[in-house]
Amino acid sequence: MYDWLIVGAGFAGSVMAERLASVRGGRVLVIDRREHVGGNAFDCYDASGVLMHRYGPHIFHTNSEMIFEYLSRFTDWRPYEHRVLAHVDGQLVPIPINRTTINVLYGLQLKTDEEVETFLRARAEPISEIRTSEDVVLARVGRDLYEKFFRSYTRKQWGLEPAELDKSVTSRVPTRANEDDRYFSDTYQYMPAEGYTRMFKRMLDLPNIDIQTGVDYAEIKGQVAHKRVIFTGPIDQYFDYCYGKLPYRCLEFKHVTLDVEHHQPVAVINYPQGEPYTRVTEYKHLTGQTHPRTTITYEYPCAEGDPYYPIPRPENSALYKRYEALAKAEKGVWFVGRLATYRYYNMDQVVGQALATFKRIDASLAGSTSEDRLKELA
Ligand code: FAD
Ligand code: UDP
Repeated sequence: MYDWLIVGAGFAGSVMAERLASVRGGRVLVIDRREHVGGNAFDCYDASGVLMHRYGPHIFHTNSEMIFEYLSRFTDWRPYEHRVLAHVDGQLVPIPINRTTINVLYGLQLKTDEEVETFLRARAEPISEIRTSEDVVLARVGRDLYEKFFRSYTRKQWGLEPAELDKSVTSRVPTRANEDDRYFSDTYQYMPAEGYTRMFKRMLDLPNIDIQTGVDYAEIKGQVAHKRVIFTGPIDQYFDYCYGKLPYRCLEFKHVTLDVEHHQPVAVINYPQGEPYTRVTEYKHLTGQTHPRTTITYEYPCAEGDPYYPIPRPENSALYKRYEALAKAEKGVWFVGRLATYRYYNMDQVVGQALATFKRIDASLAGSTSEDRLKELA
């Protein structure tokens, strides 16, 4: 009899497993329908021996010391600050848009933050209430930069107009008046020194954790005796799509190994114009690996396939709320992670959510709280 059956071995499932097994001493079974642990952060050496990310580029960044310290128990880190270039009008320019981007694109020589702010203010559109992902960009940089960097990238990535998406989506990408060309400005920006998969393996390496990969919850749920469940897959799938499908955006990855040492100047190049893919990643920039060959990945967003992104827009949140109400009433099951709580979360946010869920479970089980009360707390 397992105390916990954990569905999904990504960040959500693995952090829950580690905490429940190491702090509470529970007997844990972690399953994943994929053949490996790590979820979307899985990395491995490909046939040529290049360390790559099977599900697209994963860069760790957080402002939370607590989350960084927690993960540091399972990995050393390689300092890495992510830089991205966008291929716009035949040139490679920094994204997030910064002073260099504007100077290169418009043939200017703006020298101070104030000059850049004046340039942007002259182009920004007045928008009284910022609601959508289009509003965010138009209000900050105006239509020309919106068209060049955001409109068609967003249409490709989401199959929707920026105006149809919540403001939170394009708000992820700042606009800067200075020359800072880092993609993230968080305090902690690192890559796990030996890769994500090694980190996950260490996290799950406890005598009271069993792992079964290549196993779907549907196959196993009636077969393995367990007391409680942590579910980290898509929440609509758990409830047999009873209210209809919750939209998730899918991706196809084309991985290519090239017979050259380096392919592009930075880890990621974004393609916000005509190309059918959104971005191309070269992993050796992320990992620091030295190798005579190099592996790159093209990302092609699509409507059907494995779910990768919850799609933030009001009608989807409303549908999610209906599933969430079912989840709250489901006894002995907790829903954690990007797919199960339908949130466009980065890795650190999923770790934070899992640690917080664990704390609530732990506090409740330490007292005399009933199973119903436990569900309320979850
Ligand atoms: P997942 O990693 O999706 O894990 C869920 C697991 O559950 C999966 O392995 C799945 O196979 C399994 N599962 C689902 N249903 C079942 C079932 N029925 N039975 C058995 N198993 C099941 N975040 C960052 O912080 N930085 C980045 O640079 C970054 N880049 C990203 C790039 C891409 C292309 C994508 C898609 C995401 C990126 N993220 C990034 C986000 C990051 O991937 C997620 O925040 C994190 O991996 C979510 O962890 P999770 O455990 O919630 O979900
Ligand atoms: N975005 C864009 N052009 C870019 C980069 C981002 O239009 O060059 C928009 C797009 O809608 C994207 C969102 O901003 O989905 C968030 O970008 P981010 O790089 O954070 O996406 P992720 O890494 O999560 O795929």
